Amino acid sequence: MRCIGFGQHEGNCENEAGTERTAHWCQRCDDMRIDHISKRFDEMEKRMKDNLREEWNGARN
Ligand SMILES: [Zn+2]
Repeated sequence: MRCIGFGQHEGNCENEAGTERTAHWCQRCDDMRIDHISKRFDEMEKRMKDNLREEWNGARN
């Protein structure tokens, strides 16, 4: 099966799919996918902490 691709390679990746982690992506696209997801996660975590800090400051005022 061909890799379904990710990002700029989505829909046009010529590599064979299948890594230890997934059957749908090749190694390159899977790495990009994981990198993308972990960056999104970091952003989410940062935003949550900012929100918590604002709430905390608001509660004290
Ligand atoms: Zn690929």
